[in-house]
Amino acid sequence: MIQLTRPNKPQRLADHEVALTNEFKADTKKAVWKKAYIQNPLLEMSNHKCSYCERAIGKNSGQDVHIDHFKYKDKYPELVVAWENLLPSCARCNRNKSTHDVVEQPIINPTEINPKDHLFIAKYRYYSKDPAEDSVGRRTLDVLLLNDSDDCCLVRFQLGNELAEKVENFYHIAVDKEANLSTDTAAKNKVINGCKKLLKKCLPTAEYSAFMATSLHSDNNFIALKDLLTKNDLWDQELTQLFNESKNSVYDTHR
Ligand SMILES: [Zn+2]
Repeated sequence: MIQLTRPNKPQRLADHEVALTNEFKADTKKAVWKKAYIQNPLLEMSNHKCSYCERAIGKNSGQDVHIDHFKYKDKYPELVVAWENLLPSCARCNRNKSTHDVVEQPIINPTEINPKDHLFIAKYRYYSKDPAEDSVGRRTLDVLLLNDSDDCCLVRFQLGNELAEKVENFYHIAVDKEANLSTDTAAKNKVINGCKKLLKKCLPTAEYSAFMATSLHSDNNFIALKDLLTKNDLWDQELTQLFNESKNSVYDTHR
């Protein structure tokens, strides 16, 4: 989960908000929020990912787009198309959250709260910084099942393991060839382009960016590789930019 910046309410929604709300109140089975002018800017906001678990949704992801009503629509029908109440999500998170009442029992809304203030990442799991049962961090994890072993942790493990393997490979090439890395174009390109690709997997536009950025930035091989490339004057401008940009998604790794 990463913090999201909500864009301004689309003008077309502002124009139709009252009518759509009334339409829903008259027939609560009507999915009045299913409009491109509502859905598209929301998907842009979340980089075409679930606002909660960061799984890719829509486009060519093979995952349906669900619009989560943060305050659920059966109890709060007047908010059925309220711009601040809508979050794009995957089917899984939407189903898990279901009719959970966030007014009575708050969870993290990533457009209002920075999830990093309440959660940390260790191994393949999110943890609440505050371990109390009624803490917003713990409740968020429990309601959304963000540590489900098959749906979440296994996916993170596979991605994290792949990332670590690649980093190790690039680091070993750099160590083995350090003496003439600057002149060995093939080795140099492999390592530098490889690092750029890995850093791009940690940007907000990438799936599971919070987990990927936290894994990469705390990987000892990656830290040593960055030092080695810097020492040999090979850590270029683009790498610096990608490194700094991806750092924003890095979580604490302990309480
Ligand atoms: Zn999700």
